[in-house]
Amino acid sequence: MKSSTFQNILLLNIFLGSSLLSWAETPTANPAYPSLTTASSGSEALEKIREGNLRFQKKLTDAPTPTVDFLKRLAAAQKPHTIILSCSDSRVPPEIIFDQGIGTLFTVRTAGMSLDSNVIGSLEYAIQHLQSRHVVILGHTSCGAVKATLDLLDGHPTNTEASTSLRELLGDLQPRLQGFKGQPRSQQLREESTTNTQGIVQDLLERSALIRREHQAGKLKLTPAIYSLETGKVTFL
Ligand SMILES: [Zn+2]
Repeated sequence: MKSSTFQNILLLNIFLGSSLLSWAETPTANPAYPSLTTASSGSEALEKIREGNLRFQKKLTDAPTPTVDFLKRLAAAQKPHTIILSCSDSRVPPEIIFDQGIGTLFTVRTAGMSLDSNVIGSLEYAIQHLQSRHVVILGHTSCGAVKATLDLLDGHPTNTEASTSLRELLGDLQPRLQGFKGQPRSQQLREESTTNTQGIVQDLLERSALIRREHQAGKLKLTPAIYSLETGKVTFL
């Protein structure tokens, strides 16, 4: 394990070193983006984070500690290969669980991935201006926002009466979870979280003309996924 980690770091340093060198030697080339952050297609971007989650589960890392040179190049522009819409839960940090370095993920996070115009606008910005071709909608097991919405549906609201904003946030999840009203909960709320996550894909296609157009044209890949708090594994749905 340790030696393969060392080999990974060594290879990465060689890779980074050579790419920095080649950039330094060819000042006329477009220096826009460190190649670590780019992907030529949504499928290639998915492969990057799929492999990253496997490294995370094996306690290996490929994500570089950025050098000053790397940061300077990145400061010129960003070109993240994947956009992540995830829950804000502190146990679900996308860069760590996908073992991705700085500049690789454009992240939008709200409790339960609740949607509003700011969230959708942020996603559209990254698609339109940063040319990211891959969006991951990342739910997780034992999600507090999913649980609070289910409690609300069952007539047992918890601490939401006092806050209009919180009620609005849960109100976005409510239609997606309506079918679970009065039903027994699944283990770790996996089924309910999966339904919420898959429902968000449909909602994004309905509520964003840009996402719908790019997706229908085959230019944008949408990947729903569930992260297990208990095992660290991401299941791509
Ligand atoms: Zn959550």
